[in-house]
Amino acid sequence: MTSNDRISVTRREAVKSAAVGAVAVGLGVISKQAHAQEAFDAIVIGTGFGGTVATIALSANGKKTLVIERGTFFVTPETLGAPTAPSNAVIDFAKRNNMRVQFWSRPDHALGLLDLLANRYHDGNPYGLYNYRMFRHAHILTASGVGGGSLIYSNVNLRARPAVLDHIGLKGIDYDRTQKFMEKFRGKFSEVVTKIPLPAGVTLDQLSKKASKDYLLLDRSRALRDASDLVAKQIGVAMPWSPLDLSITEYTDGDNATTDPAGGSDTVHTFCERQGRCMLGCLPAARHTLNKTLVKFVFSKNSQVTLSPESEVRTIKRVGDAYEVTYIDRRGDANREPPTKTVRAPQVFLAAGVLGTTEILLRSQQAGLALSDRLGTGFSTNGDFGALAVGTKMIGADGKPMAAKASVFPTRGPINTADVRFEIDGRHYTIEDCGIPSMFAKIVRTGLIDRNALLALRNPAKFVDDQHRSSVGLLASLKRLFGAHDSSKDRHATEAELIDDVFFFNAMGQDDANGVFTLKNDKIDLNWPDDKPIANQACFAKIEEMMQKLSQAMGGDYTPLPTWEGLGRVFAQKTLIVTHPLGGCRIGPTMAEGVVNEFGQVYDGSKKATDPLAVHPGFFIVDGSTMPGALAANPTLTISAQAIKAIERAVGPLPL
Ligand SMILES: Cc1cc2nc3c(=O)[nH]c(=O)nc-3n(C[C@H](O)[C@H](O)[C@H](O)COP(=O)(O)OP(=O)(O)OC[C@H]3O[C@@H](n4cnc5c(N)ncnc54)[C@H](O)[C@@H]3O)c2cc1C
Ligand code: SF4
Repeated sequence: MTSNDRISVTRREAVKSAAVGAVAVGLGVISKQAHAQEAFDAIVIGTGFGGTVATIALSANGKKTLVIERGTFFVTPETLGAPTAPSNAVIDFAKRNNMRVQFWSRPDHALGLLDLLANRYHDGNPYGLYNYRMFRHAHILTASGVGGGSLIYSNVNLRARPAVLDHIGLKGIDYDRTQKFMEKFRGKFSEVVTKIPLPAGVTLDQLSKKASKDYLLLDRSRALRDASDLVAKQIGVAMPWSPLDLSITEYTDGDNATTDPAGGSDTVHTFCERQGRCMLGCLPAARHTLNKTLVKFVFSKNSQVTLSPESEVRTIKRVGDAYEVTYIDRRGDANREPPTKTVRAPQVFLAAGVLGTTEILLRSQQAGLALSDRLGTGFSTNGDFGALAVGTKMIGADGKPMAAKASVFPTRGPINTADVRFEIDGRHYTIEDCGIPSMFAKIVRTGLIDRNALLALRNPAKFVDDQHRSSVGLLASLKRLFGAHDSSKDRHATEAELIDDVFFFNAMGQDDANGVFTLKNDKIDLNWPDDKPIANQACFAKIEEMMQKLSQAMGGDYTPLPTWEGLGRVFAQKTLIVTHPLGGCRIGPTMAEGVVNEFGQVYDGSKKATDPLAVHPGFFIVDGSTMPGALAANPTLTISAQAIKAIERAVGPLPL
């Protein structure tokens, strides 16, 4: 049997074993995980960025810990690194412990899209990965799985600017220490802005300016560099372009596993292949996801730490100086009624993310847990905004677009590769290039051709009327999508070519951070005071203005996303798509302003009249919900830095 065969068999067995284990647990045959009666020093809820910091610190300090996570393991279906790579450690761990393993969506085309739909998290599919919540003014995308947001995120590590941290009153953020943590437990940061790993003798510094070798840059990274250069000159504002620090293994000749916990490309034979699908799951497993961190450094090493995946926490109750956590245990046979269990510990670290943590606490408050009145307030979109420049063209010496197309190939390279950062009227902004996975290429191209037909959904009468005409309307769009009668050149284009002139912008800025979460029918709901649309906030007007300028500098047409154009009755108004939700349990100097103090300790609402600084002993929040406002940057480095600050105060130093 070749090692290739061996690894494939292991993978098949993993799935089979998970299913057998599932039945066994369902019948109560396996008692190993029936830990409700066990005594724990601490409970961690959630395995995203905050939860991972907490779990590593508790493990390093010898605490008997239960980690409760709603989702399952997700891994690559590919056989990696033959002939010498070891088998997949995450699958092996899950297999040994009878835990479910699911795989990333298949590459491209219809099957991948089907996988994607099947991986949506909702009440009927609690094992799904993508949790897309549609609130009235904003849709929020988060992940559900062991590893939290790291499973679907774009790998960007970005520091918020000091002025932004000051503005929201976030103190004691130590980015150097956080980078040390990330690189020790996940893997070295890499800059991936080139089509191939940097050849010997070429430096990134050379490529940040127009240079003879800048054809090596990914086309969209270069397009952002050149457009921001032009716009900066036009408006007289500094807009420096930089490659982003990514949690991805880049191929470097001579890499050594002993200096890189991710393994090093030479040793594990996995490295970025520019497949442009990071948010769909990396097939070569080059991304440093937190499931790998947790399995490698904690779960498979330390018997003091128990993982309970597929377990959804409902409420937390204070019992004396300890906490009782109630959760639904969905391990085992998906068709049986899952049992509800309780477990107690003197310390609880809540890290279920903005939506999860705020929902658990709103529900717990309703059930009698005394919390600050600020619970649910201060939600920030982080100024998240996406839009396209369509039809990118060559730019002449006079700065004007010429007839010839300039391809930017959004299907190639990691999802985000570079950023430009600037300050206008006292507010800070970041704009990044964003990839479009090839499996969406046909949908995007069809959507762009038929944009007006889609927008007609806003007016049902016109929409029905359009269906009677042949070249517009939904029926024509469907024909185009499935290509049945499409005689155009598009039909023969590759997915990369179909959208090679479409540049996708991702922006972040300082919004007003005034969204309010409430509980509606036992589920979290989101609104803005007086129902004022967030679309009216100054931050988004400026971002749109800058994207229009950048689009023009790329020779393309500025094109907002359909949700921002109020597609159909469902959205009815400008709706944001938010991937960096923040707040809901924000930090504040007293419980009149916040839900937790600067160390993430949860304020005790029963003492609000007598002691506004009183906290519930041993109860901490360590995730993005504590952020007191927009970061105007991708948030995980800051969330992790705040979690490190809190956890080191609560438990003791991290092993750094
Ligand atoms: C497409 C996309 C791309 C992104 N790219 C980047 C990027 O490049 N850089 C960056 O900095 N940020 C990025 N983000 C944002 C980043 O993923 C989040 O900010 C980050 O994951 C938040 O960390 P967290 O610890 O607060 O919570 P999460 O990472 O969301 O973890 C919360 C965990 O809690 C679990 N959970 C939730 N409810 C319960 C419950 N009731 N019981 C038990 N468990 C529960 C969830 O399953 C999850 O595992 C991206 C997000 C998306 C959606
Ligand atoms: S671009 Fe592709 S290969 Fe590279 S990290 Fe992303 S998904 Fe993996």
